Amino acid sequence: MIGPPGAGKGTQAARLKEIVGVPHLSAGDMLREAVKRGTPLGMQAKEIMAQGELVPDSLVSEMIAGRLGEPDCIGGFILDGYPRNLAQAQRLDEILSERNRGIERVLALKVATEELVRRLTGRRVCEKCGAGYHLESRPPRRSGVCDACGGALVQRPDDREEVVRERLRVYQEQTSPLLEVYRKRGLLSEVEGVGSMEAITDRLSKAIREGRA
Ligand code: AMP
Repeated sequence: MIGPPGAGKGTQAARLKEIVGVPHLSAGDMLREAVKRGTPLGMQAKEIMAQGELVPDSLVSEMIAGRLGEPDCIGGFILDGYPRNLAQAQRLDEILSERNRGIERVLALKVATEELVRRLTGRRVCEKCGAGYHLESRPPRRSGVCDACGGALVQRPDDREEVVRERLRVYQEQTSPLLEVYRKRGLLSEVEGVGSMEAITDRLSKAIREGRA
C-alpha cells in the first residue's frame, strides 16, 4: 500500500488483513516498536523519525527482508509504508525474487494535502493501550483521556505540524515517483481515500479482486 502520511494506509491495511487473511506488515509500526524497545535499530531510527525523514534504506530493507522470511508470510502479506523510494523498490524486487515471489498489486490511496494535515495534526493515541483518536472526528469522552483504559492521550512526535509538512514533502519527492513505476508495470490501482472507512475498504478489496482476475 502506497499513500502519503495520513492517507489511512495503516487503518485500511489492518482491515484488509482480516478480509484477505494475510499478515499486515507496517514498516512504521515495526520501527516504532524498535524505538520503544531501544534496540540498535530503534536507537538509529528515533531521531530521524522524529524529524519526519526516512530511516536509511539498508536498515529498513533488512528489517523487512527478515520479517518476510517468517512462516506467517508464506501465504502472502500486505506491505504498508514500504517501499518508500526507488532504491527500496528495487531491493523489494530482489527480496521477492529470491523467494520466487512477486508483487501482486500496488494499492495507492489518494487524499488531498490539506485533509492530510488536518487528519495527522489532530491524531492522538493512548500511550497505554494504543487506541487511536482524533480531536475533531473521533474525540475521547474526556479530553486527553482514553475511553477504553483511562490512559493518557499523546501526540506522535512526528504528527506535529512542522514535521507533518516535512513528511509530506518527503512523500512527494521520494515516494510518489513509485506510482509511475508501478503504473508502467501494470500493477497500480489508485483508490480515493476519502469517505467512510467501509467504503474505502470496499474500493480496495475490489481493486485486489480485479488485480487477480
Ligand atoms: P509511518 O508510520 O508509515 O508514517 O512511518 C513513520 C516514520 O517511520 C516515517 O516518517 C519514517 O521516518 C519511518 N519509516 C517508515 N517506513 C519507512 C521506510 N520504508 N523507509 C524509511 N523510513 C521509514
